[in-house]
Amino acid sequence: SSALVWLRRDLRCDDHAALYHALRRFDRVYCAFVFDTDILDALPSRQDRRVDFIHASVLELDSGLKALAERSGAPGSGLIVLHGPAVDCIVQLAQKLGVQEVLVNRDYEPQAIARDQRAAQVLQAAGIALSAYKDQVLLEQEEVMTQQGQPYSVFTPYKRAWLQKLDAFQLKPYPVERYAHHLAPPPCVEQIPSLQALGFAPSNLHALRLPTGMQGAQQLLRDFVPRMSLYHEARDYPGRKGVSYLSVHLRFGTVSIRQVAALAQQQSRLGDEGAQTWLSELAWRDFYFMILWHHPRVVRQSFRQAYDRVQWDDAPELWQAWCEAKTGYPLVDAAMRQLHQTGYMHNRLRMVVASFLTKDLGVDWRRGEAHFAQHLNDFDLAANNGGWQWAASTGCDAQPWFRIFNPVTQSQRFDPDGSFIRRYVPELAKVPDKHIHFPAAMKPLELQACGVQLGQNYPLPVVDHAAARQRTLMRFHFLRDDA
Ligand code: FAD
Repeated sequence: SSALVWLRRDLRCDDHAALYHALRRFDRVYCAFVFDTDILDALPSRQDRRVDFIHASVLELDSGLKALAERSGAPGSGLIVLHGPAVDCIVQLAQKLGVQEVLVNRDYEPQAIARDQRAAQVLQAAGIALSAYKDQVLLEQEEVMTQQGQPYSVFTPYKRAWLQKLDAFQLKPYPVERYAHHLAPPPCVEQIPSLQALGFAPSNLHALRLPTGMQGAQQLLRDFVPRMSLYHEARDYPGRKGVSYLSVHLRFGTVSIRQVAALAQQQSRLGDEGAQTWLSELAWRDFYFMILWHHPRVVRQSFRQAYDRVQWDDAPELWQAWCEAKTGYPLVDAAMRQLHQTGYMHNRLRMVVASFLTKDLGVDWRRGEAHFAQHLNDFDLAANNGGWQWAASTGCDAQPWFRIFNPVTQSQRFDPDGSFIRRYVPELAKVPDKHIHFPAAMKPLELQACGVQLGQNYPLPVVDHAAARQRTLMRFHFLRDDA
């Protein structure tokens, strides 16, 4: 008997649900990845750090599968890599290989669900089954529900129930090695297409030294584990190394969510506050996947439907200033430059810039969400939509509409010495700590002494925060009974 494992956002060959089930149940197991033109063709740029990341991780996965086969005495293995519309490619391959089943790890995004339904139908017509497994999240779909059998929409009770369900069974790794002798060599040896052959030019990913693939994920994890106990204290300061930087690996599955959660749970049970807080972040991740799966309409609409009556401004100049990191609010500008230069943005800053766009500039959260989707290495529909709707107050368990971040006090609290700002806005490098959060408040002579010419080498503030705050309160005022 033979089967095909179709890998998508699960680019690893250890602790992998679909691969484990295939190896256990079938004598010959093939593995394939498709550079899906339905996704790649829609990308706005031919230079994309995510395509680079996937490409490097796919090469490593191919070597990983070969090494796994060799260690287990299998006749050989390797990844079959295709380039084209994913469903067509997989169906043709499955037929060519003559497999009985295609196995995948389950996806929760509406487009991916539609793709998998289409694949299941076409495969079924060809007499091939498609089976899907939970791998991407810890607890999925209807595994965590209220006592009334409804999906949760408030995080704290969800987390309580989630922690109760997260037992040793849920965190158990899938021992792929034990059955790896069932790996089968690809029928013909074809070169993995180069980035250029896929129609892409290299990005600056490698210059950023962002480690890719399974080994890259383990490297970041080794670096983070000794810092985990300090996470609750350090995580809010973008100038400090307080977070794990694992999001891109969790996005593409180069690390198993079970592995990282098991480490956090172990430390958390010893009373480690840092580990408890980090585990909560993993719960937020599952929470937003669950919300998206139960309420796919959030892709276009506010979770709280009354909030779709909010009248956003069409403010082309303000929108442009935000996109170009020229708002005159140094922390906002530094954050946007971090995003554009590296594809990463610290969580505190995601909250600050999302709040700034929606509550200071009055621009629809969907536009900010789309901008993030284009630039974030770790872009994930569920978390991104959840984060934006949280900041805009339109989401489930969101920031209340009358709570509006002050971009200057956020800066004073979370980048007190301005070290993060100075890293990305060097034109303000000489501004004293006291003024770096809002140079517009400096006297002309003070500005001159630091080499800053407002409106010339650094912008004047595009809005007055106090006035913008009042406008936002008015914008949301019709929701006052919702307060
Ligand atoms: P850590 O602090 O080390 O957290 C560990 C992991 O927990 C993360 O890698 C991530 O998988 C998960 N996580 C942490 N915070 C959240 C959260 N609030 N929601 C869901 N999962 C979380 N995260 C994404 O992975 N992709 C996105 O597209 C995304 N867009 C966001 C947009 C906005 C407006 C906001 C406010 C948040 C967004 N987040 C997103 C959540 C969070 O900012 C990132 O997960 C985090 O900054 C990634 O850095 P890290 O891996 O060092 O995180």
